[in-house]
Amino acid sequence: MIGLTAAAATTMIHETALRLVAAATELSRLDAIAGDGDHGVNMAATFTVADSRITEASPETAAEVFRLVGRAFEESGSGSAGALFGAFFGAFSERLERSDGDVADYVDALDGATGRVASLGRATIGDKTMLDALRPAVDAARVACADGSPLEDVLLAASHAAAAGAEATAGMPARAGRARYAPDGAIVDRDPGAVTIALMFGAWADTVGDQPAHPVKASV
Ligand code: ADP
Ligand code: MG
Repeated sequence: MIGLTAAAATTMIHETALRLVAAATELSRLDAIAGDGDHGVNMAATFTVADSRITEASPETAAEVFRLVGRAFEESGSGSAGALFGAFFGAFSERLERSDGDVADYVDALDGATGRVASLGRATIGDKTMLDALRPAVDAARVACADGSPLEDVLLAASHAAAAGAEATAGMPARAGRARYAPDGAIVDRDPGAVTIALMFGAWADTVGDQPAHPVKASV
């Protein structure tokens, strides 16, 4: 498969919204341990808004689908993660607009989007944030891409790495975001933003192959 159709990207975001709605209570519980308990509700609500805007707008390219997600987050005013997801999807779609559908372009887009999150949030790996799922996902995607894997396999590798990265945040003391003010008890469980990233990549890996690939290369 070369490139993502708008239909495939739409399905990926739809599935992400469904999974985050299902996980909202647990994600907010994790956020309540060290933060203010709004993460799951915010993520579920904004992905749901994005999903319905995409259905209304019927975008013609995958890049446009992701741009609508970024805009929904920018407008959501939903906490730090909202701004960071807005930056992530904004950078992701910008890079994809300049792509001819090569798998390496998706990896570059993920890498650039992750860099945007890091520079905006000024967090680094090990600070117990979404970056602890994002960075390993990008690294695994890069390795799979170098092996010549198709996009489905690249996203599957990314989703496994994101899940492992999210699990590994349990036991870390938080050094960024609201959670850094939490007492030591907050160390034992996972970072909610990292879990959201793992759920998102899982949704993408499970649905990316569901739509027929665009027959021509210029399908981003
Ligand atoms: P808020 O903390 O404003 O209530 P959310 O609860 O929606 O926002 O999101 C919290 C999540 O955002 C954290 O679990 C973490 O993954 C992520 N986060 C917070 N601050 C940063 C940061 N500076 N850099 C990267 N991620 C961050
Ligand atoms: Mg919160």
